Amino acid sequence: MGPTVSASASISPAELSAHQDALLLDRRCGRCAERTSALAVLRGSTCGACDAHLTWNGRGGVLAGLDAQRVLPRRLGYVLIGVSSGLLGVLPFAQLIVQAAGLVVLHLFQLRRPLLWLSPRRRLLARMTLKLWGSTLLVASLFGSIVLAPLHAVPGLGTLLNAGAHGVAGALCTVLYIEGGLALLRRRLRWEAEGRPLAASEWGPPLVLLGALLGFATLVIGALAAVSYALRHLSVPGTTRIVEWLLSVGS
Ligand SMILES: [Zn+2]
Repeated sequence: MGPTVSASASISPAELSAHQDALLLDRRCGRCAERTSALAVLRGSTCGACDAHLTWNGRGGVLAGLDAQRVLPRRLGYVLIGVSSGLLGVLPFAQLIVQAAGLVVLHLFQLRRPLLWLSPRRRLLARMTLKLWGSTLLVASLFGSIVLAPLHAVPGLGTLLNAGAHGVAGALCTVLYIEGGLALLRRRLRWEAEGRPLAASEWGPPLVLLGALLGFATLVIGALAAVSYALRHLSVPGTTRIVEWLLSVGS
């Protein structure tokens, strides 16, 4: 049994409510602090140890509580990834490394926790959907980088355009992954709170994303072939090493 939380002269009702909500976010009973399940908290059930109602005190319910956390680090992450994507956009394909690393780090700090609140089968499906979503965005970024690669052969303006395009793409890709992922998880958490079983329609998003991933992979292969063909036949002067690599891949 954990420490008992009770109102006393030293703690105000508002502080007590905030403390109880913090315990609920940690998936513990707000009164006795015993471990409980995420589903019990989401559904406002009673504590198995002390029979207290696992009721959220703050505004907007427990989902708003989960949501309110880490908003500032999230926005900072978007800015950081956008800026570093722009800086690395001057080097062919280097931006993709910071993009992939940024998605992994932000996933751990922003999406992992709400994922853990889902029931096992729904969590598995949501995790698969997020992986497909992230992979689709990365392959789409790769497609953009290949299309822009010939610009590296144009010093000055080409480098500037690559930096700008990669900066925007890096930030946009990250915002789409994290905000899209959060929207998906919010909806599924609401279904958990309502006690809705896993529906067949929840397989829709991963199947659509699998199609999109295959579509972008095809576009990547097509773009590699088209860019290398164009460069070979147009004989663009001053080709960089990456363009030479593209030529070798396309041949
Ligand atoms: Zn309890």
